[in-house]
Amino acid sequence: MKYAFTPEQLADPQLGPAAKAVRSCVHCGICTATCPTYVVLGDERDSPRGRIVLMKEMLEKGGAPTPETVHHIDRCLSCLNCKTACPSSVNYQRLVDQARTHIQDHYKRPLGDRLMRWALATVMTRPRLVRIGLLLAKIGAPIAVLLPGRLGAMAKMGLMARPQGPEPVNFPKPAQVTQRIAIMPGCVQGALAPQIDTAVGRVLARRGIELVALEGAGCCGSLPHHMGREHEAREWAKKAITAYEQGKYDGVLITATGCSAAMKDYAHLFAGDPVWESRAARFAADARDFAELCTPLAATPPHPLRVAYHPACSLQNSLKMNGVGEAMLEAAGFTLTPFLESHLCCGSAGTYSILQPELSGAIRQRKLGHIAAAQPDVLVSGNIGCLQHLAAGEGLEQPIMHLAELLDWAEGGPKPANLDLSRV
Ligand code: SF4
Ligand code: SF4
Repeated sequence: MKYAFTPEQLADPQLGPAAKAVRSCVHCGICTATCPTYVVLGDERDSPRGRIVLMKEMLEKGGAPTPETVHHIDRCLSCLNCKTACPSSVNYQRLVDQARTHIQDHYKRPLGDRLMRWALATVMTRPRLVRIGLLLAKIGAPIAVLLPGRLGAMAKMGLMARPQGPEPVNFPKPAQVTQRIAIMPGCVQGALAPQIDTAVGRVLARRGIELVALEGAGCCGSLPHHMGREHEAREWAKKAITAYEQGKYDGVLITATGCSAAMKDYAHLFAGDPVWESRAARFAADARDFAELCTPLAATPPHPLRVAYHPACSLQNSLKMNGVGEAMLEAAGFTLTPFLESHLCCGSAGTYSILQPELSGAIRQRKLGHIAAAQPDVLVSGNIGCLQHLAAGEGLEQPIMHLAELLDWAEGGPKPANLDLSRV
């Protein structure tokens, strides 16, 4: 695609890769069929190809974008299905990330929108504040369920949370330690579902991996990053990098695939920074996802439970680990229940489910309809955002849990509290 970026823009370490992504697009439209927002809305401006044109014009011109441009870019999930489908290898991620940062820096959103985004970036990155929010949602449940729009979406997600047990501080130590991995505390997951990290600790201990809580780190920064709040994302990343540099580890883990993808991209977050780029690159090289560490154990007997697996977009399109979750479940003896459009985003996408509740809800209901038609016994995913979002949908009858919880149970760990075996 032709463009008019200046040599200075092309040389910019953040804008340059976005401009190159524009140049690679040949406007073929192959990506459109894989885009969940285009599939639901049928509007070219809500397709990858249409958004590339809008983002190119916005970034070339600089300055404040039009409300229409912001509207269509805001409706992008950043699921990166288009990036995977594109035969010209257009790096849509660089473009949409840069577009979000540009909007954050140059566009004045209505006051309510600014307040909501500030609240999400402030509360959801801090487990203590998330816990207070959960408590308030439970106290105000009769009113909370009646709230419209974004507030209703946020309240509903809080009401669906079923934390089981405290956040793990110490993890089981394997008899023979083969790897010592630092585990990031993360943000919302610790408050909403601490049982996930507990299960991960047991699963990895069976594989000789000792987890050590990474003191001094917090959120990975992916949440503010997806709202274009690059400065805040970098501050969180710096905390994580500094904390990791204080110890000797064989790697660093976070147990949500969306966060793993963000950590593995830290070098770009600091591109051009003379101090932090190389430190970020070292950290990113050591970042691990649960799916990389959870190697199959010795042959496991077949299990009658039929499992529908929802692969998070971050696992498929950012980490490029397509089919890995399914292989882990099959290796553990489970029978996979395939369902239609399993490769499409569920509509969660970080804060998207709160900021775009109607569209996100429509995408979710389409997914839940396909899952219901397949009639599994249990629904599994590897990302807390997908788990919470799908659980808050209408008509999901199956229990839903993190991949690690089900694997842990299959390997002799405790049965997940919501796993109903009477269905089998
Ligand atoms: S598939 Fe790739 S090259 Fe074709 S329109 Fe989409 S982004 Fe552009
Ligand atoms: S990132 Fe996802 S929602 Fe956004 S344009 Fe690409 S496929 Fe569509």
